[in-house]
Amino acid sequence: MIKKMRKRTLKLVKLEVLSRRLSPNHPNRKHVEADLAMMEAGFKGEKALDYFLELITDKEINVFHDLRLPITNTKHYFQIDTLIVTPFFLAVVEVKNIRGNIYFDHLADQIIRTLKGEQEAFQDPVNQAGRQAAHLEKLLEHKQFRKVPIKHLACFTNSISVITFSNKYPEKAKSKVIRPRNLLEKLEHFKSLYPQRILAKSDLKKISSLLLKNHSDNETDILAQYGILQHDIVTGVQCQSCFSFPMQRRYGGWGCLNCQGFQNGSHLQALNDYSFLFKNSISNKEARLFLHLPSALTAMRVLKSMHLPSEGKGSTYRYILPS
Ligand SMILES: [Zn+2]
Repeated sequence: MIKKMRKRTLKLVKLEVLSRRLSPNHPNRKHVEADLAMMEAGFKGEKALDYFLELITDKEINVFHDLRLPITNTKHYFQIDTLIVTPFFLAVVEVKNIRGNIYFDHLADQIIRTLKGEQEAFQDPVNQAGRQAAHLEKLLEHKQFRKVPIKHLACFTNSISVITFSNKYPEKAKSKVIRPRNLLEKLEHFKSLYPQRILAKSDLKKISSLLLKNHSDNETDILAQYGILQHDIVTGVQCQSCFSFPMQRRYGGWGCLNCQGFQNGSHLQALNDYSFLFKNSISNKEARLFLHLPSALTAMRVLKSMHLPSEGKGSTYRYILPS
């Protein structure tokens, strides 16, 4: 049973907004686009694993996607792509969607990807998953949860990538590298290692609420993270047909100066973008500037039409944007 669905993470959503709104010549644009492409590929790869996870029929097996949990006694967090909770053991799965030839280098705790003659290094995902398993073990211990074996796996979802290992790469670690189609047999194998049931029905419930309660989305300030200033962001309403900026307010809707299209609700996306990049509330003046509206009265009409909750009074009056 899927207890926590996989969806685009907040960071991925924010990066997508940023890539649409970052001024075209900004020096960090390439960095933003590369990170966005990597996260999109990651998300697609995780989706490829879902097909096999959906084949699990045992109702006592629970699956959690994209958990972000606190590292005990620190202010930091660790992230798990997929966690499989069974009555016998837990399995942490780090999912990688990497194209090209992948070489596991035992010396440097890294994998080296060769694609079109270019080499790039990534963290060794087996060790990465191992560290997540260790953090999870500590967290459960800290929360006084029953001790349960935690296994870890690195799953490579790109079916045409070629994986090789250095001669000295440990056999034990090698066995943790899988393809999505191997997942179910791996789980069977783990079950044969731990045939004794450890988690009762009530424990399964307890761990489920423990995980969901301690999970928190990554609220990073995406602009600060990429060294981007407010004035580097393109303002205005974006045309939903030709994606150009800015649209012009006309007859209670929006007209595109580029494709001449007319749309009614395009300001909704713009305000969504505002909320992801800046703040989850907006004043009349901020809305007027961001949406390129001609007057305070028009801004008020647009905002009032959304029936948003508000806070403050007079000059501090702000509309709370939907999250
Ligand atoms: Zn247009």
